[in-house]
Amino acid sequence: MLVGWLTGPGWNDYRRQVTRLLIATRNVHKIREIQDFLGPSYECRGLENLPGGPEIIEDAESFAGNATKKAVTIARWLVSSGAPSFLPEFIIADDSGIEVDTLDGAPGVRSARFAADEAGRSVPSDAENNAKLLRLLKVVPVGKRTARFRCVLALAPLPPTEVGNASPVCYSDELEVSVRLFEGVCGGKIAAEPSGKSGFGYDPLFMPDGFDQTFADLGEAIKNRISHRAKALEEMRAYLSRLST
Ligand code: IMP
Repeated sequence: MLVGWLTGPGWNDYRRQVTRLLIATRNVHKIREIQDFLGPSYECRGLENLPGGPEIIEDAESFAGNATKKAVTIARWLVSSGAPSFLPEFIIADDSGIEVDTLDGAPGVRSARFAADEAGRSVPSDAENNAKLLRLLKVVPVGKRTARFRCVLALAPLPPTEVGNASPVCYSDELEVSVRLFEGVCGGKIAAEPSGKSGFGYDPLFMPDGFDQTFADLGEAIKNRISHRAKALEEMRAYLSRLST
């Protein structure tokens, strides 16, 4: 199946059934969300199935920058690590977060590390991040706590294992250029207090437009229909199915 891939990248080479996707995350919630959304004709695995993968520092100033960095780093590592137990056709990396208008778009790309200083750890708990957000919004009425989740997905083809005489620089550029980006946004408000048990991250605080319950109250079935990630995934799924026809 992969023979046609070994001679060089190029999106026209990939016009066939796409099934195996490596999701560049160890967040099991995200992997499950993506698998549930795409359905059984896609096989999604996360990095926990591939021990020894690189740690990626998400230091870009945009979701697109971080998503691209993750996808490209994992793609390069997969090729250089020989024959991995799971050989995907594409690597998908997601970067996402919540933007609160009255905080000038914070936490934004720093959503996962929002309360790092207070917590004294580079990766604070969801509860610590949520508590910081509520503290900053204490005097802001719920009607003015407009916010949105944003998700950018980067889709990278598994690069060729033989790059001929290409210099390493050309090779990396080629990989970066071959990444496709898909964005989804879900608008809503930050609740006065946490509510609900489902989901992760800021789900207990986020009430999507059209609902007076949080994502954590609404549950996965509704969230997976309307979320930022669902919208980005819908774009990506449409793109993948165009490739395979
Ligand atoms: P990353 O995309 O894995 O870097 O995650 C960014 C952070 O944004 C997560 O740790 C969560 O705090 C938050 N986040 C992203 N998507 C969601 C979501 O769907 N629900 C709740 N929080 C989210």
